[in-house]
Amino acid sequence: SGKDIATPTRTKEVLEKYGFSFKKSLGQNFLIDTNILHNIVEAADLDSSKAAIEIGPGIGALTEQLGRAAGHVLAIEIDQRLLPILEDTLAPYDNIEVVHGDVLELDLAALVRDKLSGYEKVSVVANLPYYVTTAILMKLLESRLPLENIVVMIQKEVAERIAAKPGSKDYGSLSVAAQFYAETEVAMIVPASVFIPRPNVDSAVIKLKIRDRPPVEVDDENFFFRVVRACFAQRRKTLLNNLMSGLFDKQRKDEVIQMLSDLEIEPSRRGETLSIDEYASLANEIIRRQL
Ligand code: SAM
Repeated sequence: SGKDIATPTRTKEVLEKYGFSFKKSLGQNFLIDTNILHNIVEAADLDSSKAAIEIGPGIGALTEQLGRAAGHVLAIEIDQRLLPILEDTLAPYDNIEVVHGDVLELDLAALVRDKLSGYEKVSVVANLPYYVTTAILMKLLESRLPLENIVVMIQKEVAERIAAKPGSKDYGSLSVAAQFYAETEVAMIVPASVFIPRPNVDSAVIKLKIRDRPPVEVDDENFFFRVVRACFAQRRKTLLNNLMSGLFDKQRKDEVIQMLSDLEIEPSRRGETLSIDEYASLANEIIRRQL
């Protein structure tokens, strides 16, 4: 509607009223396009029985739309200067709660327990600050929060890494982590013109639908991810060399080669060619052989 915070006119009014100046170091690029916001909220599949967590509400452009779609919204904002603004812009919505803090420092499990206890389904919906995209996504994926969806605006390049398949140059430990925990889908590519100020990179909205259980059997999840990280540690190195420098003692080399041969994984392959399935068998086999 014409009163939406996300229209260019209303946004400028709010920024002027409070004399707000953007902090580049906090990744502040605010959305001024209600269509994009509707698409983001739509992708999150919310209704009044579900809760949403927003990271970085800014002046409330997306928060307001979430408040209309969800039963309860918890918005986490690091910039103290935005708190009085949010109190003003979000005054009409009694189901929105703003928490001041750094999402990377906060105990999200405790927040969900304390503030969203009545909700079985919780989704994270955000236009993320780009300087910490990967750290935030890894924290959310590894948090074991009872999440349904993560729908976030991020750099297009990171969206491509998340959805990348084995063998492509974008495939890395972020792809494995995202696809291990979620079904991934690039929901849309977004032009820089829908933000003020405009970011220097292209953006995309990615949807991660969190899986009930991983697509592969993994005996020890932490060890699985240690193996994945080791194999991507130096992308030019072979799988064998990365495994040897990251995980094993030199004397074990023959046993490692034998194991790879038994698994029918060529030691000369690069980490970026292994599927999640192959990473799972590799990690499980190392544990079974007590290498
Ligand atoms: N949601 C608003 C919108 O779409 O217009 C603002 C999005 S802006 C890209 C990112 C927001 O995240 C800013 O409000 C910024 O202050 C906030 N932010 C940056 N780092 C943060 C952190 N570590 N924890 C919580 N919020 C953060």
